[in-house]
Amino acid sequence: MSEKLTTLSIGILTVSDSCSENRAEDRSGTNLCRLIREENLINGSVAVKEIVSDDADKIKNKLMDWSDVKKLNLILTTGGTGFSQRDVTPEATKAILEKEAIGITIAMITQSLQVTKLAMLSRLVCGSRGQSLIINLPGSVKGSEECFRFALPGITHAVDLLKDNSSQILQTHTHLQSKGVHQDTKQLKSGHHKNEHRYYGENHHLYGDNQQGHHGHHDHHDHHEHHHHQHGLHHQQSEVDATKVAHRPRESPYPIITVEEAVSTVIKHTHVLGTEEVFYKKSLGRYLAEDVTAKDPLPPFPASIKDGYAVVASDGEGNRLVTGDSTAGSVPADSIKPGYCMRINTGAPLPPGADAVVQVEDTVLVRDADDGRVEVEIKIMSLPKAGQDIRAVGSDIKAGQVVLSKGQCLGPSELGILATVGVTHVTCYRLPIVGVMSTGNELIEPDEPLREGKIRDSNKTTLMTQLEEYGYPVVDLKVGKDTPTSLLTVLKIGLEKTDVIISTGGVSMGEKDLLKSVLQTDLKADIHFGRVFMKPGKPTTFATINGPRGKTLFFGLPGNPVSAVVTCNLYVIPTLRKMSGCPNYQRTLMNVKVEKDIQLDPRPEYHRAVLQWTDDDHLPTALSTGNQISSRLLSMSSSNVLLMLPPKSAQKHMVTKGEVVKAMVIGRL
Ligand code: AMP
Ligand code: MG
Repeated sequence: MSEKLTTLSIGILTVSDSCSENRAEDRSGTNLCRLIREENLINGSVAVKEIVSDDADKIKNKLMDWSDVKKLNLILTTGGTGFSQRDVTPEATKAILEKEAIGITIAMITQSLQVTKLAMLSRLVCGSRGQSLIINLPGSVKGSEECFRFALPGITHAVDLLKDNSSQILQTHTHLQSKGVHQDTKQLKSGHHKNEHRYYGENHHLYGDNQQGHHGHHDHHDHHEHHHHQHGLHHQQSEVDATKVAHRPRESPYPIITVEEAVSTVIKHTHVLGTEEVFYKKSLGRYLAEDVTAKDPLPPFPASIKDGYAVVASDGEGNRLVTGDSTAGSVPADSIKPGYCMRINTGAPLPPGADAVVQVEDTVLVRDADDGRVEVEIKIMSLPKAGQDIRAVGSDIKAGQVVLSKGQCLGPSELGILATVGVTHVTCYRLPIVGVMSTGNELIEPDEPLREGKIRDSNKTTLMTQLEEYGYPVVDLKVGKDTPTSLLTVLKIGLEKTDVIISTGGVSMGEKDLLKSVLQTDLKADIHFGRVFMKPGKPTTFATINGPRGKTLFFGLPGNPVSAVVTCNLYVIPTLRKMSGCPNYQRTLMNVKVEKDIQLDPRPEYHRAVLQWTDDDHLPTALSTGNQISSRLLSMSSSNVLLMLPPKSAQKHMVTKGEVVKAMVIGRL
């Protein structure tokens, strides 16, 4: 996981009789270039951009050259996809494709139809040849941009699969074979690379829009299910036997550890991810993996600090003739001779010959001309010193100076510094991709009507949005049912897509709490802990799994919504911060006063509260958010700290009103 992410090499082929080689006329191709180069829609760069006429052979030759010889990862064509006689791009493309990717076409056309009904006339063809993904886009600027955006979610993944990722594919195959229970094992053994696209294709299919309930077994609305179960890469029967309910352990086999031990265990197993190049405007919140140095000095020329007059200091006080002006943004042509001065503005370059600036407040007008339009002569009232009110070249930033250091977090000011020094691409640590899953037969989607015994899944929404708020890319891994095979299926999807999997529920002592068994038996995971001495969050589980992407971290958080959020804050957020290159990944703690007496629990308790500041107190007061029963999500709403209450001891049963305790900051203050 530490390799540098490679960027895609992209070719843009404009098909048009009317465009000349003059780039300005090729508006669609130029716009696609801009989307890649300036808007950074995709992690790649335009390696070639050309224009061909509507001639099937020429189009074919270009596409073959770009895929077979230039070995581009992605080729976008624009134009020639309509119904007129000369439109032959789809036919030419189809002729050289090895595999069609109709799904991308469908994605582009269905979404285009919502923009214009005329999209039904587009005949876009997509597919692969060798390692190149080739996509036809319409010819208009608007249509080509829209379709490109519609296809984007699939492009990176498709290109990944086409690129030489045979090692990854091999790993997956080996993994499956070692289990020996895959329905398609035979095919995998004989088919090898021949089948890889098909398998990944299926996998990809899971990430379509209509995937609700695809992990379930009997949901009537789930037509993807059978498909998935017959062919899916992930379909592997779990070896966990969940039928012997009576014989399940009645005491957890996991030793209970302290919160401090749990945090340090998690951190110990957390690796800092690799690096990637990021466009500066997209780098907000990222951590630098390199020092950034200034190429040029700032200011790049001696500049005035005041509005006033550029003078020769040795002339001293007294009268000067005014020879024109120097305003910000342009360079004065004339130089200043003794006895003369030049009007100058703040930030404007000092004219040659001058060595000081006298602010306008220290001058008086002696003589003007042309009805006040021209200053002819002024008088300097204060003795000028050489260098006065001038910013020397490089006085703010020297050429070669390190302006930002490795490990620094890029905030708005840092982005401004990048802009100043003209560094538009920086190497940052990669952000962890986080998969979030829920577990439980009782869970339905938020938009479904309640049925008997069901509740709506809230944890996934809370956790995903919290992670998004922190800027991490998240993958919705959907809901696993309380069966070993369903959980295994979801986990395997997570292992393929993500660096960290966060699951809620299914880690307590009930007979339906099967996650730990699946982790151990089917995934050969290392479970580092399965119980923590805290309230809420006792069943919190942490494991590392060796998957197709390397080491993946797994957090099994308790199902109670409040427990899930508390443990996410305690364990997951610092982990993600460390992975993304943050040197100080620990949470922020502060002293707060409690608002009322609180009885202590035998376990250390994390008590949700909102801070309030009063004028006459330097410490904020923490207002409890109400009933702290862990199922009450409402007690979580608007809380911005977790009070860290010590466990009850013989000496101390409670904290009293006004007492100072530690609190962890978990929200905006
Ligand atoms: P579990 O840890 O699976 O035993 O779940 C503990 C409690 O949390 C049960 O009452 C569950 O119904 C509830 N719960 C589990 N997952 C979720 C979820 N994703 N959203 C809302 N409640 C949940
Ligand atoms: Mg459950």
